Amino acid sequence: MTMTSLQDLFTHHLKDMYYAEKKLVKALPKMAKKAGDQRLRGAFEEHQRQTEEHVTRLEQVFQQIGEKASGKTCEAIDGIVKEGEELMSEAKGEALDAGLIAAAQAAEHYEIARYGTLAAWAKMLDMPEAQKILHKTLEEERQTDEKLTRLAMEQVNRKAA
Ligand code: FE
Ligand code: FE
Repeated sequence: MTMTSLQDLFTHHLKDMYYAEKKLVKALPKMAKKAGDQRLRGAFEEHQRQTEEHVTRLEQVFQQIGEKASGKTCEAIDGIVKEGEELMSEAKGEALDAGLIAAAQAAEHYEIARYGTLAAWAKMLDMPEAQKILHKTLEEERQTDEKLTRLAMEQVNRKAA
């Protein structure tokens, strides 16, 4: 499909994120199961619940633009998740948790980039309600990223102690 307007681009990226969030809903429990540190496991479990809400929020945005909620294969998240799976099968011990944090942050950074753009486009397209919804998810992704950074730093500090 040729995209000729910002509206087209917005819809395309919405579908991309719908696919990505659904993929992450399935990936996060696997990561939680692999995590050795209890707090890291808790962080993955909590974010899995949030991610389910992200799916619901995207459905709300689809509804606002009069489109049926549907996903479109997102090569970027497929690649990020695949790398995470490789890591889970190859890393052990303290490398595993550090690697899991790195893999999760790659996903969060991707989401932050996309939601930042989608929220900005919603504003340009004069859709304040959609902008608000997208921004709410963006904030949760940012908070998750920060929490992962804190957990990584604690790991480093524990090792130094
Ligand atoms: Fe998300
Ligand atoms: Fe996320």
